[in-house]
Amino acid sequence: MPQTRVYHYVNPNNGNHITSLLPPDHPEMVCLQQGSHIEETKFGLLGVLAAIFWFPIGIGLCLLDRSVTCKRCGAVIKGRPSIQLGGSNGRNEN
Ligand SMILES: [Zn+2]
Repeated sequence: MPQTRVYHYVNPNNGNHITSLLPPDHPEMVCLQQGSHIEETKFGLLGVLAAIFWFPIGIGLCLLDRSVTCKRCGAVIKGRPSIQLGGSNGRNEN
């Protein structure tokens, strides 16, 4: 029977020990070990269209319809602040 391999990591930001089944070369674990993500800003299609059709006011909408994700592991670092289709989960900000 193959044994499940468990990996241990230490978060360099806060020293937390993390146990994960993901191998060290998994994108999420690479980000974890480096303590940072590769940020990539993406603009939503609606925002871009608004910027084109309602220039220059649409630029503001384009900026609202923006999300920052990690290029490497795909984690959402900053979601869209105001435009949320469905779901009513509150935002937890410190
Ligand atoms: Zn990442």
